[in-house]
Order: sequence, then C-alpha cells, then structure tokens
Amino acid sequence: MTEPRLYLERPFDFENETEVVAAKSKKGSFRVTTNCSLMEPENPEGGDAGEILGTNGVVRVERVTWDGNLRNQVHLGTLEGQLIPGDRVTVRVDRARRRRNGVYHTVSHLLTSVAREQWATDMIGKLQLSPEDGTLILLGQGDHLDHAAALEYAASQYLAADRPVSVTFLDADQAVARCGTFFQGVVPSSIRRWRVVELDGTPFPPIPCGGVHVDNLNKVTNLKITAIVRVGDDLNIGYTCQYADA
Ligand SMILES: [Zn+2]
Repeated sequence: MTEPRLYLERPFDFENETEVVAAKSKKGSFRVTTNCSLMEPENPEGGDAGEILGTNGVVRVERVTWDGNLRNQVHLGTLEGQLIPGDRVTVRVDRARRRRNGVYHTVSHLLTSVAREQWATDMIGKLQLSPEDGTLILLGQGDHLDHAAALEYAASQYLAADRPVSVTFLDADQAVARCGTFFQGVVPSSIRRWRVVELDGTPFPPIPCGGVHVDNLNKVTNLKITAIVRVGDDLNIGYTCQYADA
C-alpha cells in the first residue's frame, strides 16, 4: 500500500509494475486501484492520464482521483479485455500530459513570484488547467489589472537559461524563515516538515508546494499571456506555454 501523501515522490518516473487491488465498472467508467501508482491525481489542477496494462486487458486512464482515505489513486477510464484484482500490471503515465501539467504549474509559480515582487504584496495563486490553456487566479489582486501586462515580459526573462527547479524538505520554522511568515497562514500548522520549491537562479523566495513541476525553467517555452481580467476581488491571468524537449 502506498503511503498517504500530498505529492508525488518520483515525478520524473513514468512506469511501474504493481498489482490490481480493486477493479469495477461504475457510472459509465472502469475504476482501477493498484497497490502502487506513479499517477498524479487531479487536486485540483491537471492530473495524469495513461494506461494500465495487464496480461488480459488494458485500461485507458482518462482521470485520476484519490480514494476516500487519500491513500491510493483511483484510475478511471475505459477497459479493453479483462482486468481483475490480483492481476499483475504495468502502470504507464502519459508523459506529454505530465510534462504539460508540470510546465503550466511551474509557470504559475513564476508568475506568482514575479507579481509578489513587482507589487510588493503576498498572495495565493491558484491554477486552473483546461485542455487549451491555464488560468492563474491571484486572490485579492484585482486592483493590479493595469500592471499585469508587465508580467509576461518579466517572467520571460527567467525562461531562457539553465535554472533548476529544486524541491527540498525543511522543518516548519526553517521553512517559514525562508519562504516568509505569510505562509504560516497558508500551510496547516499540523505539517511540521514542509516541501519547498525554489526557482534556482532567480531572486524569488521558495514556496511551499506539493505539486508536480518541471525540473528546470529551461523546459518552458512560448509563454504567452492570453487574457487578464478582474473577477470580483481576484485577478485571472490566462496563459499558454509549452514543454521544451531538452
Ligand atoms: Zn508547485
């Protein structure tokens, strides 16, 4: 059984061998739980797709969610052939989808970091991914509508060169000292060890995060801001970007 957790430990692994724990059709889709899976559930953005291949059947996975205990991924898709509990299977992550999710998510950090610096204010950014683009919602930043056009230019300055995206774990006190006291109100106090993401080679402080990233900002190309609108108190920044093969 996998450990309960809020992040993928191996975001750059795409295939693993495991065993089917549960498999059944429900509400028009086939649902499979495996003993271990490298697939990222949607929570709330993105989420993986891929295949679960057994000896007698294959599931084309279109969505991944957590089970009720946040312990195991539930894979939803369509079944060809047969798959039953106890089958040995290969779980194969759709690399293009994983990389797309990672590149959009990483850019959301970059845009949020640039905005924090330019506007000298702390904020939470939430990313909503669609098949066409991503929308970064900067909570409470609607007043910055006129300043947002500068974000694309500023963010692009960090994309061309080798800038690793590093992930480390810090004790909560140490993490607050590095990330800023703002995050004390964001990360639950029950979490004593924070997963912290840093954009190396940029002036931006690290950010606590459990998401999936690309390993270097040089994997991001063609960043374009497509829309900036105020929605209530928030600023919604629509953008497109692509994963660059190194
Ligand atoms: Zn992140």
